[in-house]
Amino acid sequence: TVKTRFAPSPTGFLHVGGARTALYSWLYARNQGGQFVLRIEDTDLERSTQEAIDAILEGMEWLGLNWEEGPYYQTKRFDRYNQLIDQLLEEGKAYKCYCSKERVDALREQQMANGEKARYDGHCRDGNHDHAEDAPYVVRFKNPTEGKVVFDDHVRGRIEIDNKELDDLIIRRTDGAPTYNFCVVVDDWDMGITQVVRGEDHINNTPRQINIYHALGAPVPEFAHVSMILGDDGAKLSKRHGAVSVMQYRDDGYLQEALLNYLVRLGWSHGDQEIFSLDEMVQLFSLKAINKSASAFNTDKLLWLNQHYMKSLPAERVAEELKWHFEDQGIDMTNGPALTDLIPVMAERCQTLKELAASSRYFYEDFAEFDAGAAKKHLRPVAQEALALAQAKLAALTEWNAEAIHRCIQETADELELGMGKVGMPLRVAVTGAGQSPSLDQTILLIGQARSVDRIGKAVE
Ligand code: GLU
Repeated sequence: TVKTRFAPSPTGFLHVGGARTALYSWLYARNQGGQFVLRIEDTDLERSTQEAIDAILEGMEWLGLNWEEGPYYQTKRFDRYNQLIDQLLEEGKAYKCYCSKERVDALREQQMANGEKARYDGHCRDGNHDHAEDAPYVVRFKNPTEGKVVFDDHVRGRIEIDNKELDDLIIRRTDGAPTYNFCVVVDDWDMGITQVVRGEDHINNTPRQINIYHALGAPVPEFAHVSMILGDDGAKLSKRHGAVSVMQYRDDGYLQEALLNYLVRLGWSHGDQEIFSLDEMVQLFSLKAINKSASAFNTDKLLWLNQHYMKSLPAERVAEELKWHFEDQGIDMTNGPALTDLIPVMAERCQTLKELAASSRYFYEDFAEFDAGAAKKHLRPVAQEALALAQAKLAALTEWNAEAIHRCIQETADELELGMGKVGMPLRVAVTGAGQSPSLDQTILLIGQARSVDRIGKAVE
């Protein structure tokens, strides 16, 4: 059965590139009715932090990318890696290398100066090294010197590398710590991973890893290397392009549904379909349909998708996420309309939940002052009569609905022989404090009768 994994190094938060890789790996497992594993690759003790681990878990949970197994931690598996390294040493498939850092550095410099690819020259491979009894050493993998490594990448097709191109990789450092390329092979083997989905930055490691699988007598999994994400300026996506942590997108007011839909389309397609529910993604996803070329991040498209989901998901679902933004912005959501009534009215006008919360404050809180520009323009003495009349009519309503409210405004305009705008704009400024809001009857309806009447009263004074 299919088993995939996501194997982040906890050196930072979960960024969009990582999240997309995780999503593709997860989708493939779900599509195949398989299992998904989360593994934290924390062997780099200096750069790995608990904070980053927490941030990755939080991001995965927020996106809803659940796992059947894990999180595994590589630092808890050192004994296993070392046992296998010792085994390779015994079998003559790995060797101790006593070359000093100075020697290896000098070698590299010389090779670079000659315009060659820097590679270890195999000096210690046949044991012809002189060294002190207790000299420090690294363990190197004995890479085959003949033949080539061939694999069929799901995204990039057939890839062939001559073994001559590869040097003898360090698999254990002088301090005894096993290295990434070795641990990843042991883990994917032990965990029964059938398809390795990961970033294209790892494609050069794959032939080396395949040789290690062979040396261990382990089955080689399939591979899918996903291309990079570029910023809208064509450069590699980085902090410069604004939000990069997945949780930053939550903070900025995006729905998971929108971000997932955005990420799945960023490098994968199914005809020209743009909108995918999670169920559809799971049903339609395939590794073969992942794009080979790099994808450019497009914030406008993400905003468009976000608004689409704000408008089309059940309001109860959107409300769950919106609550967080109300709290974050210190708006007391109990003191005004139900969020599920607010959302259909406001989602038309906002692209993010953050914006929706910020522009809904007047439904929940009285404002201290009218917006100066709007007041100057619309709360002029000539408007006083209209405001007073509309206020009286609204106060007298015994049923509170949009039609009744609309009638009050219409009657006010008719009786005073004014255009609707001459009544509507002053009213809008009076009840919202500013010149912009959803349709006036909807706005007044949501603000409520007592509060609307009271606010109009303040504008009439
Ligand atoms: N830990 C590696 C990274 O975060 C991923 C390794 C892999 O997926 O094989 O880049």
